[in-house]
Amino acid sequence: MTPGAGMFAALMAAADPAAAAVKPERVWDFRGSKDPEITGLMNAHLGRARQSFKEHGQGLAEEFGIPYDPTVAEQVQFYDTAGDITAERLRRRNGFVSAYTTPGSRAIRLPGRNLSNMDDEMVSNLIVHELMHSMGLKEDRGQSDKIQSIVNNYMKRKKKERERK
Ligand SMILES: [Zn+2]
Repeated sequence: MTPGAGMFAALMAAADPAAAAVKPERVWDFRGSKDPEITGLMNAHLGRARQSFKEHGQGLAEEFGIPYDPTVAEQVQFYDTAGDITAERLRRRNGFVSAYTTPGSRAIRLPGRNLSNMDDEMVSNLIVHELMHSMGLKEDRGQSDKIQSIVNNYMKRKKKERERK
């Protein structure tokens, strides 16, 4: 191939909308913690949660009866609960801070200090639970455990199915 032809091929590829659509997928990252160790551990948790969401997000959305919205994976952002006003309110009310967001919101708050050293699968499922809220799942007071157990059971079922293959 002559350099001229190679250049032409490169220009064609750049102009091809299908080629342009193949952009690297966005990595999820944890923001707002001043502790680099927590940030590192949480980023690892987010990597696993992202994989799990890509695999099971649609199936779980169906399970909850909400529309699957793939834009969530591209738009969601994770922040530490540290210094957040809502976290303080939750701490006063419940004595602890869990992960939280608002239905439809792309901002998810995670208590990095509490979660960073917890079991990988547990944290991943917890993050997926929050992502269901980002896709619009509502939660009445006291329903959180029920939602979490639906997520956990779904993941357990899928894992068994995978092992059987
Ligand atoms: Zn919830």
